[in-house]
Amino acid sequence: QVSKAQKSGPVVFQPSFDVGSNVNLTLVSELKKSIYNNELSVFVQPKVNLQSRAVRSVEALIRWKHPTRGMIFPDQFIPFAEQTGLIRDVTLWMIAEAAKVSVAWLQKGMSIPIAVNISARDLIDSDFPNKVAEILKATGSNTSLISLEVTESSIMDDPHRAKQTLLHLSEMGIKLAIDDFGTGYSSLSYLKELPVSELKIDKSFVMHIEASQNDRIIVNSTIELAHNMGLHVVAEGVENIDAWKSLQEMGCDYGQGYYMSRPIPISDFETWYQQWA
Ligand code: C2E
Ligand code: MG
Ligand code: MG
Ligand code: MG
Repeated sequence: QVSKAQKSGPVVFQPSFDVGSNVNLTLVSELKKSIYNNELSVFVQPKVNLQSRAVRSVEALIRWKHPTRGMIFPDQFIPFAEQTGLIRDVTLWMIAEAAKVSVAWLQKGMSIPIAVNISARDLIDSDFPNKVAEILKATGSNTSLISLEVTESSIMDDPHRAKQTLLHLSEMGIKLAIDDFGTGYSSLSYLKELPVSELKIDKSFVMHIEASQNDRIIVNSTIELAHNMGLHVVAEGVENIDAWKSLQEMGCDYGQGYYMSRPIPISDFETWYQQWA
């Protein structure tokens, strides 16, 4: 099913969503068709080394170009996709797109890994790592070009199964990041056991780093904590040069935010990349 999707585009959805639950059925049925109709699209936003300015990787962020409602942002439809199980196909579609793009970039001499966001549902699917492997094989990509971001809260949904899935992915050579760090309720002792290499500080702490001493304290200690755990740190929500400088002084490794670039369509990235360099 997955490898077929890589070749032809459409993904066969399992009719697994719960029609009795409180979801927006119009949105769900439209979302179901959105993959077939080519309405989903991948935007990218760079993660940049705060010392050298070098581009480390990009994060893939989904957009839904709805034929009548215009552009729909993930916060407005990913929760529905998660509730109905459609997220599994959305995730596989994103990974396949990211894999294709990474190969195309590599052929142009741009060796830039792409990070894809995955959900709690993906983490409890013990077959998910195999599906990812199939996609990488079918697209000619490899595990050094695709990394995955998981939020604290999606791990804590089912920590045991999440750990198994993450271990499997990590054994395959896929790099993993903890996303939105600081907003969930995870236990540090638990996170320590996970095979992750990157910690992303949630933008809510970074955006007001200049004005809020509390936020500065939180960001500073998170950076120290992550480094002590052997992780590198990405600050999300870097909106201006002052935030960049503060983070740099705090020893934060990488930054991501509107100051460097908003999320942009794949087709615009090369131009941004050349200008940045
Ligand atoms: P995230 O993974 O934490 O992604 C970062 C979000 O912060 C993105 O919002 C990005 O546009 C926004 N952002 C980046 N820099 C700045 C900044 O300087 N200031 C501000 N105010 N915001 C900034 P976006 O694209 O709307 O995505 C929202 C969330 O939706 C993502 O948060 C992620 O959790 C989820 N998401 C996006 N794409 C996917 C996907 O393909 N699959 C899944 N499961 N979730 C996705
Ligand atoms: Mg993310
Ligand atoms: Mg985040
Ligand atoms: Mg987020």
